[in-house]
Order: sequence, then C-alpha cells, then structure tokens
Amino acid sequence: MKICIKCNPTSMLIRIFSLFVFIILAHNVMGGKGKVPKQPLKIIVIDPGHGGRDGGAHGQISREAIVALEIGLKLRDALKKELPDVKILMTREEDELPGGLQNKDAALKWRAEFANQNNADLFISIHLNACGANQRYGQRVIGTKEQTYYVTTGKGKKKKKVAKTRTVNIYEKYKLPASVKGTQTYILARDWYERKVNAAGKKVEGEGDLADSASQDLYDLDPVQARIMAQQYAKYFFQKSLTLATYCEEEFAQQGRYSWGVLQRDWEGIFVLQATRMPSILVETGYVDHNEEERYLNTDKGQDEVAHAIVNAVKRYRDVLINPARASSANDTAVIADKKSQEKPLVVSVLKDRKTEVAETITTSSKELVVSFYDNAEVDGDTITVYDNNKAVISQQGLTVNPITIKVVFNDNETEHELVMVAHNLGRVPPNTALMIVQAGSKQYRINLTSSDEKNASVKFVYSP
Ligand SMILES: [Zn+2]
Repeated sequence: MKICIKCNPTSMLIRIFSLFVFIILAHNVMGGKGKVPKQPLKIIVIDPGHGGRDGGAHGQISREAIVALEIGLKLRDALKKELPDVKILMTREEDELPGGLQNKDAALKWRAEFANQNNADLFISIHLNACGANQRYGQRVIGTKEQTYYVTTGKGKKKKKVAKTRTVNIYEKYKLPASVKGTQTYILARDWYERKVNAAGKKVEGEGDLADSASQDLYDLDPVQARIMAQQYAKYFFQKSLTLATYCEEEFAQQGRYSWGVLQRDWEGIFVLQATRMPSILVETGYVDHNEEERYLNTDKGQDEVAHAIVNAVKRYRDVLINPARASSANDTAVIADKKSQEKPLVVSVLKDRKTEVAETITTSSKELVVSFYDNAEVDGDTITVYDNNKAVISQQGLTVNPITIKVVFNDNETEHELVMVAHNLGRVPPNTALMIVQAGSKQYRINLTSSDEKNASVKFVYSP
C-alpha cells in the first residue's frame, strides 16, 4: 500500500508541531529583538564612574569621581523631568564605590550586574578623561641677572683677559598645561571579543600603561559566556550603542564642545560595557587635567550642559526606536540615524581645528588593504587616534614596536579612503611619529607620518580596479 505522505497522520502531527515551534521561535525573535516595542525605553541606568577610595583622574581643583557624580545626579533629574515615563536608576548617589564595596574591580562588576538584574534598556557611564602622560615642560623668563664674562684682547705679550658684564635672562622650567581637551563617547568595539582573544595572544610585558580604573585583565567571564555575550552585542546592541553615542557627540559639538567623536576601545573602563546586556555607552565628558575644561566641568552651568546634551541624545535615540521610519533603516545591521544626523554628519573637532597634511596618495587595485602603525622613534608614550573617512578606527592607542593593525575595505559606496592620524598624547618627545605599513595584495608601502597637537597626517587611498 502506498502511504500518502500528505495524509499520514503522524507526518501531519510533526508538521503541525513544527509549525507551532516555528511560530514560537519567530515570535520570540520578532518580539524580542526584531520588532520595535511601543515603549522601548523603560529603564535607564546612570553610572557615575569611580567613587570613594577610587577617585579616578585628578585635576588642579577636583577629582573625577566627584564631578562624574555631580553630572550623573543632574542627568538623573533632567531625564526624570524630560522622560517622566522612564525609570532612572543610579549605580551610586554618594561619593562611595557602589554596592558598599571597597574594591574598585568588584565595584565594576557590581555596576554591570546592577544594570543586568534591573533589566535596563540603556546603560550610561559618566567619566572625565585625563591626559596624564602628556607632561611637557616649557621655559619662561622670571628675571634678569648680571653675568661676568671674559674677552681676550691684544696679541703676543700684550694679550690679556678682560672681565666684562652683561645682562642675561633667568629662566624657570614649568609644567605646560595639558593641551588635550574635549569629549569622547565610547562604545565597545563590535569585534571586541576577537580583539581580546588576539590581544591575549600577543601580550607584551610592560604594556598596559593605559589602564586606569578598570584593568583590562579584570574581564574574567568564562570563555563560552563571553563569546555568547559578544555575539549578542554585535547582533543587537552595537548599532544602538553607536547611534546613541553619535547623538551624544553631535549634541556636544553643537554646544561648542571639542568633540573627538565616537571611539571604540577595548581597554580602560570598558569592562562595564562588556558585561552589560543592553546598549551601553561611556561618556568622557571632558579632560579634568585641562585647566579650562576642569573649571567648566566644576560649574553648575557646565554640568547642566553636559547633562542636557546627553538628555537630548537619549530623546533622539528613543524617537528613532519608537518610529524607525524616521531612521534611515531600522535594521540592526544598518546605521540607525535620524535625519538630523544624515543632513549634517558629525565631523570631529580634531579634524576641523587641526590642519591635515596629506603625506601620500596611493592608488590601488586591491579591494582590501591591511594597514599597520608602529612607533618608528623612541617608544615614549605616544598615543594616536586614527579616523577612516571621519570614523574612528583606532582610539587613543599607544604606538609601540608592535603594530596596531586595521583593515581598509573598498566598496561601491566607498571607493576612496582617507586615513588621518591624530596625535593624542604627544609622549615625552613630541611630535608623534609613526611608520605606516600598507599591504595591498603583493605590494607594500612604507610611509612615515608625523602628527602634533596642531597638525594631523593623512594618507589617501583611491581604488582603481
Ligand atoms: Zn574614569
């Protein structure tokens, strides 16, 4: 007897069951992440960095932990006022480490867990930056003095030394004020896990000077969990974090602040971003060791402005989540950006204010280039940020004898790339000099780049198949 598969009752049951499973799965996927819920922002966690015995960076008149707290409290009040239907939670409201903890690393874990356990939809960490390694000295005249010197007159037996006096300057060495200023909003790199694994493979002794409050080795999730979280982040949270971070920097720039744009890092303080399961950003609201910015960030006006820039950014972010039609695409893999961003893309201040000198233009038929940066002089603490067509691809990383490597990929929309190397810390011996090695298929280019706090160096790449 021939069994009709279509009518076989067992087969039918399997088919119904499969359909049922599919509907449940589809529902979870759509409802969970794909579909935009009506109120996508219910809970926001604000995390003022550091606290208590962990004071963070120092300025002349203040400490990072206290200023970050003051800004955090102002941000809380402003968000409550502007978004009354959103619950705002703080990791700390006093100058203490959160969770009653005394250990800053344990406190970092606590911050992330606090956001996870409260099912927050957004995590905003508030910090102030410092450029501690940028300790350069100047000379100034503080007076004059009479100095005796001798001249020889006459010849032969008549030759004699004559004492004379002259007035000379008295100099004093003094510490130059930090020249680095501005705002940066950090997000976790989309490929942070791969970077982490790669970095662990080539760890060099003596590295790790960049770590401040959060040591990079702190991150000790078990590898399976870490990989799952990394995948989750890349798929669901990276683009949203990038959108909010971009809005923050746009708002800062509009207030006249000096914006470095959105940076992605996998060191210092980034643990909270790795361990939170939601879109998350870390805002460096300014440099506490830059005299002018420190004074600004210690005023109510400055703190209110910072808080309002972030509030505006959060409101724009929420609008785009609620009404994806306003965005260029609601797709998680595409750029979510509202019209304001599309019409006036953010050009970071360091690219506007500093001169950029094109060191070389390279025409290539390779679709993908591998570009590496090395310190080609004494390794003296230089750090650089590199922008590829305006987007940061290297964020404040130290130049060493080990390369910092990135890929430059051409596509139909981007047939030209300009890589701009911007000096951040100038190290002990300014300016920053780097050797850039470009691998384009079988061809290799070696280019020397020099950048200072007045001038950037760039290389242009033109794709010509
Ligand atoms: Zn900090």
